[in-house]
Amino acid sequence: ESVVNRIAAGEVIQRPVSAVKELVENSLDAGATSINVIVKDGGLKLIQVSDDGHGIRYEDLPILCERHTTSKLSTFEDLQSIRTMGFRGEALASITYVAHVTVTTITKGQLHGYRTSYRDGAMEQEPKACAAVKGTQIMVENLFYNMAARRKMMQNNSQDDHAKIVDLLSRFAIHYEGLSISCRKHGAARPDVHTVAASSKVESIRGVYGPSVAQSLIKVEVSYNDPSSAIFEMNGLISDSSYVAKKTTMVLFINDRLVDCSALKRVIEVVYAATLPKASKPFVYMAIKLPPEHVDVNVHPTKREVSLLNQEVILGQIQSAIEGKLRNCNE
Ligand code: ADP
Ligand code: MG
Repeated sequence: ESVVNRIAAGEVIQRPVSAVKELVENSLDAGATSINVIVKDGGLKLIQVSDDGHGIRYEDLPILCERHTTSKLSTFEDLQSIRTMGFRGEALASITYVAHVTVTTITKGQLHGYRTSYRDGAMEQEPKACAAVKGTQIMVENLFYNMAARRKMMQNNSQDDHAKIVDLLSRFAIHYEGLSISCRKHGAARPDVHTVAASSKVESIRGVYGPSVAQSLIKVEVSYNDPSSAIFEMNGLISDSSYVAKKTTMVLFINDRLVDCSALKRVIEVVYAATLPKASKPFVYMAIKLPPEHVDVNVHPTKREVSLLNQEVILGQIQSAIEGKLRNCNE
């Protein structure tokens, strides 16, 4: 049974960055305004995520890492939405099947916090009282300790995994511009990402990606409501002809979840190639809101790649909005 669980968990948590994503999303779901991440050896030795969110109640600790334990049911009316938002109560459980997990947490109004550890979906010992500041700290150690082949494959790759984690946190920093987020290597004096709550999205992009990206940005928006085909809203910032890069940077949030949509990326690259051939690899930030039941997150086990209901309509609308903007800036 534990082998089956481990294999399933290895599908959900494919690399250190997948664990970081799940932990940071949980912090955001807990209402955090500040998230600090510490990483050792690209995340294989240690991933530590500390937040100032609402914490976890003492009585919830024993089942915290059991599969299908989620506290997020009451936020949504129907089960379908829960599934499509990715609240499956699987992330923490999965991590405990492939790593050692220690949780320290304190809820509002408590004098002290609690600390306990987990393995294979179960709490290892009674929570111990401990000093704690606001929120939750989750420590993930020795990731893939029980998956020798994968660990070996990743051991020489820690630079790459670290870069992936920094990139992920940069994306969160942009979308949640009110959030302060930092990431540092264990023992390092200076963080690799450090944003403080910015006054605007462009400011937060300037902080993370630098002035040349920020200066090139054009606003693009679509609000579409045709109940017979598609309902969605898109707010975006896209680079103009002054931004020249070797590859496209696409930061996409759908219903506040960081996702990939390769069909959308392709459409955008085609528009840029046709209108700004010299700047055909753009920087694109997009936030799309649509009814949760119109998102299919189950295309890929890591849940990053999504497809949308009425995708052709949505892509067509976004395409013409971008075309309009780029043609204007060409004139
Ligand atoms: P899901 O996010 O799908 O509910 P997870 O396995 O990611 O499932 O997390 C399980 C539960 O643990 C969450 O529903 C939440 O109640 C609790 N939890 C996890 N991380 C935190 C956190 N940083 N702060 C508060 N609660 C948390
Ligand atoms: Mg979660």
